[in-house]
Amino acid sequence: MQQKKRILTGDRPTGQLHLGHYVGTLKDRVRLQDEYDCFFIIADLQVLTDHLENYSSIESNVFEVMCDYLGVGLKLENTFFVQSQVPELAELTMYFSFLVTLPRLQRNPTVKDEAKTYGVTNISYGFLGYPISQAADILAFKADLIPVGQDQLPHIEQTREIVRSFNRVFGKEVFALPEPLVGEVPVLVGTDGTNKMSKSLDNFVAFAHSPEETERRILNMVTDRKRAYRKDPGHPDECFAFKYWSVFASTDTLLVRQECETAARGCKECKAQLTGKLNERLAEIRERRQCYVSQPDLVWDILATGTKRARAVATETLEEVREAIRISFPRLRVSIKGGQ
Ligand code: SF4
Repeated sequence: MQQKKRILTGDRPTGQLHLGHYVGTLKDRVRLQDEYDCFFIIADLQVLTDHLENYSSIESNVFEVMCDYLGVGLKLENTFFVQSQVPELAELTMYFSFLVTLPRLQRNPTVKDEAKTYGVTNISYGFLGYPISQAADILAFKADLIPVGQDQLPHIEQTREIVRSFNRVFGKEVFALPEPLVGEVPVLVGTDGTNKMSKSLDNFVAFAHSPEETERRILNMVTDRKRAYRKDPGHPDECFAFKYWSVFASTDTLLVRQECETAARGCKECKAQLTGKLNERLAEIRERRQCYVSQPDLVWDILATGTKRARAVATETLEEVREAIRISFPRLRVSIKGGQ
């Protein structure tokens, strides 16, 4: 039987996941999980690149993200793991760091954009070098495919360059070139009607929110800015609530469009109806999520099993890597095992 190709993807644990994540990646992951051998990394160390002041909540955020994963329907057969608990990744990052020049890192457009987005002005060595750490995350597990949006392609190209350099410099084909699995990553605008949905801007709807909180957030949502009065015809293509209709209740969009353009529906009732549809859609996810939230031991066990599995794969890769670099020192390892 042909082995399934391996995918590696994941999230930084900066808080609860929300509808923006669902539309952008989670929905796709649920679809891909039966076809591929999926490794989901919760990249806790990456949080340190730009959230140094906020690191105390990493552990609880890892738990929240894991509950969100299981809530949206990712299955237990997948490998879920925590980045910092696979120390081989840090070791591999170190080896790879010798293969990448400083100007090459400084040229990476994604790093520049992210520094701007997160307001990082004093760029640390770790921030600048995180594409190297990402390459280690991918290559330690010999992932074949990496689901990415267009904006992440420079990272994959960087990883591919590292593969070529490593194999050439150390004269051994340890790594194969991973391929990007480029999908359209739709961006969901937040309830402020201006910015991408984001926790830091408080313009989000999380899976963890109650139906009432969801209602509050959707009812406060900014809609068609050109529609001043209830009697004015609306412009659905300029209304972010309409975008939500098309993503979460697409079968109703024709009717909503027609009633909006003829002023047969008002924005308040439209958003109330939308909330009902959203809450219906989220009910199953919330129920499943809550079931895991109430069993923290089970959630940590799932992560422990996945992390162990991930570590076993990374350990094998690192043995090959050390051999290629000629730093495997079998004699020293024997003496360490013997406690001398
Ligand atoms: Fe948007 Fe609905 Fe108002 Fe039309 S009726 S502008 S779709 S909120």
